[in-house]
Amino acid sequence: MSFNSLGLSDALLKAISKKGYTTPSPIQQKAIPPVLEGKDVLASAQTGTGKTAGFTLPILQLLSQGKHLSHRPVRALILTPTRELAAQILANIKEYSEFLDLRSAVIFGGVNQKPQVAQLRQGVDILVATPGRLIDLQNQGLISLAKVEILVLDEADRMLDMGFLRDIERILKVLPTKRQNLLFSATFSKDIKKLAMGILHNPVHVEATPENTTVDAIIQKVYPVAKEKKTELIIKLITEGNWKQILVFTRTKQGANKLTESMISAGIKAAAIHGNKGQGARTKALAGFKDGSLTALVATDIAARGLDIPLLPHVVNFELPNIPEDYVHRIGRTGRAGASGEAISLFSPDETVFLRDIEKLVGLKLPIENIKGFEPDPNASKEPIKQGQGRQQRDSTPRKPKTDTSNRSSNNSFGPRRPSQNNDRRSNR
Ligand code: AMP
Repeated sequence: MSFNSLGLSDALLKAISKKGYTTPSPIQQKAIPPVLEGKDVLASAQTGTGKTAGFTLPILQLLSQGKHLSHRPVRALILTPTRELAAQILANIKEYSEFLDLRSAVIFGGVNQKPQVAQLRQGVDILVATPGRLIDLQNQGLISLAKVEILVLDEADRMLDMGFLRDIERILKVLPTKRQNLLFSATFSKDIKKLAMGILHNPVHVEATPENTTVDAIIQKVYPVAKEKKTELIIKLITEGNWKQILVFTRTKQGANKLTESMISAGIKAAAIHGNKGQGARTKALAGFKDGSLTALVATDIAARGLDIPLLPHVVNFELPNIPEDYVHRIGRTGRAGASGEAISLFSPDETVFLRDIEKLVGLKLPIENIKGFEPDPNASKEPIKQGQGRQQRDSTPRKPKTDTSNRSSNNSFGPRRPSQNNDRRSNR
């Protein structure tokens, strides 16, 4: 299949070809036609599938065909959870709309609002926004959403995880009721389904990869390791393997900082990216990682979400995620676009419950490899780590993991789960 057969205009085809895309990705093949027909769409797709073009290309076409109002009110609103994702979507829109007479802008928090407001005043057809800053400007009467024709909720699952549900509901109240709605999410929890049901009308369902399954191109390995030896092991893997670009996940911001410092002391060019870092530091770290001046980017789940890092050869879970869906998001950073990648998890005995939850979710038994000299003490405690010293993210409601009633016997299923510990699963990120 080619882009020509999807019904896109010449101006868009020209921009697509300039970008170097030759074949539409599966999500683009499935999403573009119904969006062009004006239908609501519920899409299951994660970052790396080409989903951004899947919704932005048809939106650009619809807007360029629609009637132009001289003052250019916002006609398409794209909500995203993070600043980085918002900025990336805008960058894509700018490229795809090069040969169209459409204006686009992005607004997000953490930076001065003045330039954003000035841009809005000049008229913007497509606005990409994070919910917080949008509400802020709306409350100040600096933005009108009364002419929105198309609403996109991108990475809806992550928006709920980050506690944006109330903000989304407030935004919905100021939008015209008659509009086209597109919702993209990598996972479909009960909360997402409820949100989708409240927003979408007779949606067309499209899916890029089966929900919660991991890509075949990714080689997944679990290295059991004593907790206190994880830093030494990751440094050994990077230096001895001569790895050039590695994305490392930690559970907490503090953990990310600490590991980054240790890596730097060991001569590895590394930077941390998490919620406590200012926008400038985050952008700089990501740029350094992309251009190769940084070898390792150490990230928390929320900060890493939505980052467009193409063809990453290595992803390492320095700590296993306590939300099993995050494992799928994390390893989705490697093995993209047909390239193979490696996702390594450093697994200490106190993460036994997390590993079990992940294996249940992905429906796979992850292969275990022991590395000599790093094996954990067989008598080490398998009690889950204590969490929750930090503040809870906004008003987020942590997902409750399913209770494991199975009695699977394997070398990974150790002690009993302690549900009380799960309530703070989203803190500190
Ligand atoms: P996304 O999932 O939207 O973040 O896109 C992931 C990456 O794939 C981005 O770097 C896009 O520029 C790229 N991409 C999107 N669509 C295509 C396509 N049809 N062919 C090649 N690359 C693409």
